[in-house]
Amino acid sequence: MPPKIAEVIEHDVCAACGACEAVCPIGAVTVKKSAEIRDPNNLSLYEKGAGYQVCEGCLICSRVCPVVDGFIENELANVRKFFAAKSSNSARSQDGGVTSGILKSLFKQGKIDCAVGITRNEKWEPEVVLLTSAEDVERTRGTKYTSDPVVAALRQAFEKYDRIAVVGVPCQVHSARLIQDNINEKIVLIIGLLCMESFHHEVMLEKIIPEILKVKIEDVRKMEFTKGKFWVYTDDGEVHSVPIKDVAKYARNPCHHCCDYTSVFADISVGSVGAPDGWNSVFIRTEAGEKYFDMVRDEMEIMEDPKPGLELVGKLIDMKRKNNAEHFLEVCKEFSFETGIRNETM
Ligand SMILES: Cc1cc2nc3c(=O)[nH]c(=O)nc-3n(C[C@H](O)[C@H](O)[C@H](O)COP(=O)(O)OP(=O)(O)OC[C@H]3O[C@@H](n4cnc5c(N)ncnc54)[C@H](O)[C@@H]3O)c2cc1C
Ligand code: SF4
Ligand code: SF4
Ligand code: SF4
Repeated sequence: MPPKIAEVIEHDVCAACGACEAVCPIGAVTVKKSAEIRDPNNLSLYEKGAGYQVCEGCLICSRVCPVVDGFIENELANVRKFFAAKSSNSARSQDGGVTSGILKSLFKQGKIDCAVGITRNEKWEPEVVLLTSAEDVERTRGTKYTSDPVVAALRQAFEKYDRIAVVGVPCQVHSARLIQDNINEKIVLIIGLLCMESFHHEVMLEKIIPEILKVKIEDVRKMEFTKGKFWVYTDDGEVHSVPIKDVAKYARNPCHHCCDYTSVFADISVGSVGAPDGWNSVFIRTEAGEKYFDMVRDEMEIMEDPKPGLELVGKLIDMKRKNNAEHFLEVCKEFSFETGIRNETM
């Protein structure tokens, strides 16, 4: 029987989180734009040992795929605490630097051995990396709105490290949680970013930035989606922007089917929406989230009851669902397995 992820790939709703690559015992999956599985439908076509391994149908990958698992109806039901925060060192971070601040402090205190993050070069070509020190964290600051299989890096991390932190967008956080629950307990902390959509590299780097924004990618210092516009800040101090609707239509296909805005499966979710400019909105969702945030709290400035707060977050959750739930439920009808939007609390 082909694994369920074969249907996810076939219907072009693979989020490219990288989880199947991380857990496949024989290395039969690689994830770039989406997962590529070695001949899931006709296992007889390939000879084993011809430079790659052929899928053996063990179905482990199907247990960690976020699309196979489906979405949760009420995203905010497991939020224990909500506040705004800013790290004592937020320079070069995307917003308040809480994500980098948490990781840096945990490395300095010796509480984690490894974290997964994304760096970029001057052409905004991203690279998924394993971080092992507070200095490494510096290289990952800033949001890359392109998609990379962050969770695949866990394959290497599990071989070397015992206390691993994961930072990712909701699809990656979801699969990291499924791996932690089903396969490997070495993940100790999952930090989830808020996410409305992401883009294939070539779409962002060859169309949106040069053609729509009319900016050279090498000149870009920061990108940001906020207040109804996509903003690009360049090294010469100029600010360029276009309405979000002009670029959102170019988002990846799985993002048009995604119904998780706030990383409901994270221990701690971090975003910008809901907090004042220069601050992060922070959602503590689990006991582990409380424990690890308490360890780093002294290095953060905290704002209780921030404005615009959860009301705006709720509106954006609803907007993402309104746009995407119907698309997702349509695809679900085509699957041979049961998935959908579950009416349960995490
Ligand atoms: C694709 C995408 C879409 C987003 N959309 C929204 C949104 O709609 N609303 C909102 O409030 N927030 C959104 N965010 C989150 C926001 O941009 C910030 O990442 C968040 O507020 C944390 O800020 P910070 O200052 O703590 O991050 P920093 O301290 O700058 O740390 C950045 C962290 O993000 C990680 N990272 C960067 N790019 C990626 C990526 N592509 N995939 C996985 N990890 C990555 C880095 O490894 C690093 O750990 C989005 C993030 C991404 C990656
Ligand atoms: S079914 Fe097993 S062998 Fe095949 S891709 Fe999935 S994990 Fe790998
Ligand atoms: S586990 Fe992730 S990368 Fe693999 S098929 Fe599912 S969504 Fe795609
Ligand atoms: S919208 Fe964000 S979380 Fe959802 S599939 Fe796209 S990148 Fe992943």
